[in-house]
Amino acid sequence: MNTFEIDDVLEEMALEGRRHFAPHYVCQRLGISEIKGVTNYLLSLVGSKLIPSFEVECPNGDIDFAVNDPRLISKETRICHICGEEYEPDPERTWLAFDFTERYLLHVKKKKALRGKRNSVAALNSFVLS
Ligand SMILES: [Zn+2]
Repeated sequence: MNTFEIDDVLEEMALEGRRHFAPHYVCQRLGISEIKGVTNYLLSLVGSKLIPSFEVECPNGDIDFAVNDPRLISKETRICHICGEEYEPDPERTWLAFDFTERYLLHVKKKKALRGKRNSVAALNSFVLS
């Protein structure tokens, strides 16, 4: 697993305007299957590039609620707000998704704008020189 490649893919995704993606999607984009390693790396970016979302599913497959911190998931019985079924949140039925932080999105856009400017200067130079 190459973390530089993960960083590149995240940058592409940020520029594409992608929101709310699962680690599985990042693996797909990279063409690798190391879901655990990718997940751990993405979790290491929480606080700088990414905001995590732990989504708790009811027994009928509804996403009942989501939290940013898994410690906020209580084991207490609750009622699904979609289907009304009573259930206990199960870590095996909790899914992880990520969103980009505003700070990171701004950085990526700024970087792209700067790159565009550099390219146009380079294009101008080659025009002047030829
Ligand atoms: Zn439900």
